[in-house]
Amino acid sequence: MKQYIVLHHSATPDGVVYKDFDAIKREHLARGYRDIGYHWVVEMVDGKLVASPGRPEWDDGAHCIPRNKDSIGICIVGNFQETVPTDELYMFVADLCRQIMSRHPIQEIGGHRDYDATACPGKNFDVEKVKRLVKGELYMSSIFKDVDPNGWAYPDIVRCVDVGIMSGYPDGTFKPKQQITREEMASIASRITFQACLIGRDLIKKTLAAVVTVYRNDGGLGTGFFISPQHIITNQHVVNGAKSLMIVSDDDKLHGKNLTIVATDSKYDLALLKCPVANDNYLKVYQGEIYHGQHVAVIGSPQGYPYNVSQGVITNPKRADNPIDDPNLFSTDAAISPGNSGGPVINGRGEVVGVVRSKFVDVAVEGMGFAVRAEFLREFCKKNGINV
Ligand SMILES: [Zn+2]
Repeated sequence: MKQYIVLHHSATPDGVVYKDFDAIKREHLARGYRDIGYHWVVEMVDGKLVASPGRPEWDDGAHCIPRNKDSIGICIVGNFQETVPTDELYMFVADLCRQIMSRHPIQEIGGHRDYDATACPGKNFDVEKVKRLVKGELYMSSIFKDVDPNGWAYPDIVRCVDVGIMSGYPDGTFKPKQQITREEMASIASRITFQACLIGRDLIKKTLAAVVTVYRNDGGLGTGFFISPQHIITNQHVVNGAKSLMIVSDDDKLHGKNLTIVATDSKYDLALLKCPVANDNYLKVYQGEIYHGQHVAVIGSPQGYPYNVSQGVITNPKRADNPIDDPNLFSTDAAISPGNSGGPVINGRGEVVGVVRSKFVDVAVEGMGFAVRAEFLREFCKKNGINV
């Protein structure tokens, strides 16, 4: 069983730096290993960070003697004894760790040096930062080298940056003690006015590109969203009994494509569909606790009008007193209409916190919509071979 993730860099103690996956593999084979010793190699290919798989994750590694059986080894190409990792790299490594953690009961992320007498992954590599990113305590936008994470204003800075009200400087600083001018004050005030919504313009654009309208052959419709390049989530009741299904998106590439049903779950009213064409825009599923009053947005096609956004809060994160008495649902007051079914409920970072399921309809009721919690969505996807 894999309970650890061990991080390495590709430099040897005498300063030789292996430049890519192939060079590392060649070196390991030359040392008599049966394969590359790591499970993953993170490297830059054509200016883009990629994670290349080495040994299968279930297999023993050959990267950290005390931990070869119970860990997954990630090697990051570079020499962090000499150079400083970029924030982009930290974020990428943290994402990879999260993915691994969705497949294995990982209890600890460590550097090679935590388990063996070595400097690997280099004195400039901050393993704690990876851990905090994985836990969601740090967001990419809030990593500024001059902001103290323990400072009193830290949560406010994180929030302001996250919703786009303030930003940092291109050199990675925030300049927390800098005086602001009237000009800057006007700019901030104007952003508050125009971005009082939960999610900024860029984020909403990216999220909308992952959302589609699902049409049934009999004229019915619902909302769906990409969860991987080719997989779409919607409600089971949106697809149930349909002879054929087709999607419409803003993007001509996907317009009118026919979908196949991969799996459905009647208890939680979820369906997993496959699209014949890949979409680069897909949504991440939130890992963490949702809370009373948390701001969320709902995206979908209410009454068949596509790409509508409504906002609200989570009115109860775990209520058993919903119409179907199910603690795997949460409730929200974000406006939901028929046609929203199967659409995503997203948080301020554009991550899916739930799947719209139903609305409590009664003349005396206002603002009671229900959504399937992200934990169940993840479980449903995993059961069907997709890790989200
Ligand atoms: Zn190492």
